[in-house]
Amino acid sequence: MMINIAIDGPSAAGKSTIAKALAKKYQYVHLDSGAMYRCVAYKAKLEGIAIDDEQKIISMIENTVIELKPDGSIYLDGKQVNLEIRTNEMSMGASNVSKLPLVREELVRRQQEMAKSKGVIMDGRDIGTVVLKDAEVKIFLTASAKARAERRYKENLEKGVESDLEVLTKEIEARDYQDSHREHSPLKKADDAIEVDSSNLSIEEVVSKIEEIISKKI
Ligand code: C5P
Repeated sequence: MMINIAIDGPSAAGKSTIAKALAKKYQYVHLDSGAMYRCVAYKAKLEGIAIDDEQKIISMIENTVIELKPDGSIYLDGKQVNLEIRTNEMSMGASNVSKLPLVREELVRRQQEMAKSKGVIMDGRDIGTVVLKDAEVKIFLTASAKARAERRYKENLEKGVESDLEVLTKEIEARDYQDSHREHSPLKKADDAIEVDSSNLSIEEVVSKIEEIISKKI
């Protein structure tokens, strides 16, 4: 049976890494919803649109194609933007555009469309609470802010993205606060989600914990 799996949690908790590993194992499609908010923030910057100008951003999105490819690469209007959308500036930019209700409405609509034939593992902040409310498996993946900053730092180094651990820690804490306190679809655990704290677990340990949860459903 094909199901949908929602993985939510704060920044850099390992959602994408875990979702990718699970997608490979079950031959499911991994959809990184945060990349879509990042693309919107990035294009707004390129076009010189203020990040809080909701009307202009919405008209821009109407003429924007965002593709999440099976190999994990992200295409914005036909151009690969994997590195461009991963900077600290775009992390905060994404968090800022994601506060706008009309932007959320449009991206949620696109995400629901992508997941309608099931077999999807989607990660984000509001997947279990809003986007895929009926997902058969919902995971809320957490980790301490320190563990998350250290992981993101290593990941950036590997990807060749310049970063600074102290700046990253502050940025993660600021984003946690902003994402959990916004008015529309704040980051929160869905009532029926299972919380997994990955602070002291390896990737493999987290994956096998979630596999156990999934195996009960399929
Ligand atoms: O997951 P990632 O860190 O790439 O997401 C960037 C930002 O996009 C988050 O900090 C959050 O503000 C926003 N986001 C969201 N809803 C999602 C995914 C991401 O609001 N489903």
